[in-house]
Amino acid sequence: MAKAASPYGWIAKSLATLQRAKWHRQVQPIEGKGGTTITLEGRPCLNFASNDYLGLAGDDRLAAAAAAAVKTYGTGSTGSRLLSGHRPIHDELEQAIARLKGTEAALVFSSGYLANLGTIAALVDHRDLIVADQYNHSSLQMGARLSGATVVVYEHNRLEQLEQCLCERRSHHRRCLVVTDSVFSMDGDLCPLPAILDLAERWNAMVLVDEAHGTGVLGATGGGAVEYLNCRHRPLVQIGTLSKALGSLGGYVTGSAELIDFLRNRTATWIYTTGLSPADAAAARTAIAILHQEPHRLTQLAHNGDYLRQQLDQLQIQYLDSESPIVCIPVKDAATVLALGQQLRQQGIFVAAVRPPTVPTSRLRMTVMATHSQQDIDRLVHTIQPLMAGQGCPPAEHPHPAE
Ligand code: PMP
Repeated sequence: MAKAASPYGWIAKSLATLQRAKWHRQVQPIEGKGGTTITLEGRPCLNFASNDYLGLAGDDRLAAAAAAAVKTYGTGSTGSRLLSGHRPIHDELEQAIARLKGTEAALVFSSGYLANLGTIAALVDHRDLIVADQYNHSSLQMGARLSGATVVVYEHNRLEQLEQCLCERRSHHRRCLVVTDSVFSMDGDLCPLPAILDLAERWNAMVLVDEAHGTGVLGATGGGAVEYLNCRHRPLVQIGTLSKALGSLGGYVTGSAELIDFLRNRTATWIYTTGLSPADAAAARTAIAILHQEPHRLTQLAHNGDYLRQQLDQLQIQYLDSESPIVCIPVKDAATVLALGQQLRQQGIFVAAVRPPTVPTSRLRMTVMATHSQQDIDRLVHTIQPLMAGQGCPPAEHPHPAE
């Protein structure tokens, strides 16, 4: 009898297709605690690929807080928050997040991804409309899909398209939710939040903004792009992560006390999963305390982003519009960006080589941290410059609307 074809045979073929397109991805072990210098493939490398914007992930005070929480509460929270998994440290953290963001209440999740998925699916369903930026993070896109709402995507930051969509479609749906990143993670630019909120108000729409790369990064007190853009008093749903500037793990939603009470009752990715671990919660709470006590970290982070952009300007290296610690250099295709990433690593510089399908066009993505020195940034740009010379003008095939 002929051997039956394996029902899993398609996986190898799919992997081969990814390899051919240079879309295949693999993990890379990084030794040690992270920080501005890491060990990669046995070599010390300057790290410009981390989301640890304030340099807190390796801070001894976060480690001590996490260790103390393990001693007090154990390693796992042992149940969902509504059953046996709710600990005083969760309350303390949620209050600290609400204070940082200037809102009435907050709710912590096991990750930012789960916070986005669950919150969107709790706020809208098949009767409703979601209007979303084209470059929204995967978790926002998946949340929109999961909700079953009608999803309309507008080109990146094109307010006239958002307005047209609201004008044409809003009246056909029960509720409407406008969804956007505040800081676009693969570009570094910001959304025009005040204008989005004006439009939403006019069309009776809710707004959900993802502050994953804004919180602890932007705003006079680190309250995020919402603070930076003077929108703290406006009604909106803010989501974020504890895993970037706050150096821990977990996600959160913040807004009115009513919103949080509703989500506690209706968000599947919060109700039916084990509570955030006590260690992660304690580390994040300590990070927020440090953010308040050491405001120079925020000013240094902003300075480092500006300094990197100035240096790139001086060397006439093109980069995408950026107002954040994320600065991206467009590169013509996936093979080239991978080769550049490799050459930089060989010279002791670690930056992310990002390519489709993560982004529409390939780019080197650099992130500065508050703890980088001017010399670190000088070394980055002077290593990149000769590699970029002769790369030509990117990219023709997939134009990037943000450019
Ligand atoms: N939103 C954005 C914009 C992100 O960049 C990320 C993480 N890459 C997330 C949400 C998800 O956060 P977490 O890592 O906590 O799941």
